[in-house]
Amino acid sequence: MAFFNEVKNIVFTVIIVILSTTLIAVSVVFALRGAEINEAYLTASSELETTRENLAATESEKSSVESQLEAERQERQRLEQENAGLKSEIEQLKAKKAEEEAKKLALQQQQQAQQVRPPQTPPPATKVCYLTFDDGPCENTLAILNILARYNAKATFFVKGNSKCIDYVKNIKDAGHAVGLHTYTHDYKQLYASDAAYFNDLNAVSAAVEQRIGNVKLVRFPGGSSNEVSKHCPGIMTRLTKSVPEAGYAYFDWNVDSGDAMKFNSQQIIEAVLSQASKKSGAICVLMHDIKINTTQALPSVIEGLIQQGYYFDVLSHDSYGFHHGVKN
Ligand code: ZN
Repeated sequence: MAFFNEVKNIVFTVIIVILSTTLIAVSVVFALRGAEINEAYLTASSELETTRENLAATESEKSSVESQLEAERQERQRLEQENAGLKSEIEQLKAKKAEEEAKKLALQQQQQAQQVRPPQTPPPATKVCYLTFDDGPCENTLAILNILARYNAKATFFVKGNSKCIDYVKNIKDAGHAVGLHTYTHDYKQLYASDAAYFNDLNAVSAAVEQRIGNVKLVRFPGGSSNEVSKHCPGIMTRLTKSVPEAGYAYFDWNVDSGDAMKFNSQQIIEAVLSQASKKSGAICVLMHDIKINTTQALPSVIEGLIQQGYYFDVLSHDSYGFHHGVKN
């Protein structure tokens, strides 16, 4: 029995030992496992923290990118506005340029129109003849006046201011003819040197006439308004044909040239005048020179021939048709 008890004790002890060992082993295993879990938890926590931090960093980065984007958007908007401003400025400049070009073109056209200014409208249809005598007065002027008186024909004398017979302007006027201003010197080079030079010459002849018979406002340009002897002063006739009328003068050219300045003899003068006159349907203005003896000799036949063609004679006045030539300079 004792033995049995002994064995029982031993078995019991062994069982206790085994159970204790197992318990210890299980405890150790659990303890180890707990440490492992704890470590994993710590690792996971730290990872979570890192992730949070990363997230926060990402959030901040996102907000920075967003603010950058906003700044860029604003900059783009500003640039677009600036661009629109520049575009409108360009449009304005273009419009201004177009306006300038239109003005320039208009000016060019105006200048061209002046350079090739056409003659006035056709002369009046009435068969009036304006006989005109340039470059006097001179001794011969008195003979001309006698012939005109014989036919009761009126004429117009465009006088030269420095003529030694300038006093005859009074005889001309007293006989019922008209006096006009031609030039003081008749020196083409000098009087067409400049616009101012022309007006100096005009003022000189005007003063010479005025002190004898009063103010005269009829003008004939030396060489006519179509002259090319003034070419050394480009455009001067274009300007003078405006400025002289603006100064209150009326200027007259002619539409029948007697040719007496070209040394025509009296027969040639008669033929030239009557032939040209016969081809006109209305008013005529005949260019002659009282300083030419051939003209004096031709004059009676010229007057008679014109009367036969139906013309009557009158003096030019400020309002008469101007017979203007086309300006060539
Ligand atoms: Zn002349």
